[in-house]
Amino acid sequence: MSSSSAEPEVREDVPLSTLTTLRVGGPARRVVRADSTGALIDAALATWADGDDWLVLGGGSNLLAGDDGFDGTVLLPAARGIEEQRDGDRVVLRVEAGEPWDDLVAVAVERGLTGIEALSGIPGSTGAAPIQNIGAYGQELSSSSSRSSSSTTSPASCRGGPRTSWGSATARRSSSRDCAASW
Ligand SMILES: Cc1cc2nc3c(=O)[nH]c(=O)nc-3n(C[C@H](O)[C@H](O)[C@H](O)COP(=O)(O)OP(=O)(O)OC[C@H]3O[C@@H](n4cnc5c(N)ncnc54)[C@H](O)[C@@H]3O)c2cc1C
Repeated sequence: MSSSSAEPEVREDVPLSTLTTLRVGGPARRVVRADSTGALIDAALATWADGDDWLVLGGGSNLLAGDDGFDGTVLLPAARGIEEQRDGDRVVLRVEAGEPWDDLVAVAVERGLTGIEALSGIPGSTGAAPIQNIGAYGQELSSSSSRSSSSTTSPASCRGGPRTSWGSATARRSSSRDCAASW
């Protein structure tokens, strides 16, 4: 897992159309791409200290951006990695937010793990998955996820209804201070 704190990559006036799958959206004033958890935390803390408006973006597959763009900082969690821990006969996967969700499902299936296999083919990042509480074919992520950090959420605290979670409710509030660095 990438906990080291490499410098995040900062770009200015980046068209959101290049960061969303619908390929629409005007410029974001600042975009910060963090390739490690440490870099993401540093970038988030600096943004919050500045009081800048901010938005966390994963694969951009569930976001419709307007032509006016975004006058603030877009944080891109890009760290990848999947770590397996065993707890008796239970397996816990600790996954970086930038890991593509479908790659994670493929790894879980290859390893014979059950719980997220019906969520195969859903586009986007692992970091967004608990925020969106993704679901398909009767399976919902809130039934399998235990924690996401730097925010710490649990299925119980996530109020996990279809496509809603504690995370998505708070993420829309500009005063929120949560983003998932790993899940
Ligand atoms: C063709 C298609 C099929 C789909 N099928 C399904 C389906 O079957 N089931 C389903 O549930 N959804 C489905 N979706 C919706 C989409 O795949 C999910 O919502 C997915 O979780 C979005 O991931 P993303 O990384 O692209 O998120 P984004 O579009 O980048 O972001 C979505 C939201 O999550 C927040 N976010 C992103 N990353 C983080 C992070 N690391 N920490 C905190 N907040 C974050 C963003 O701020 C934003 O509010 C589908 C979408 C498409 C385009």
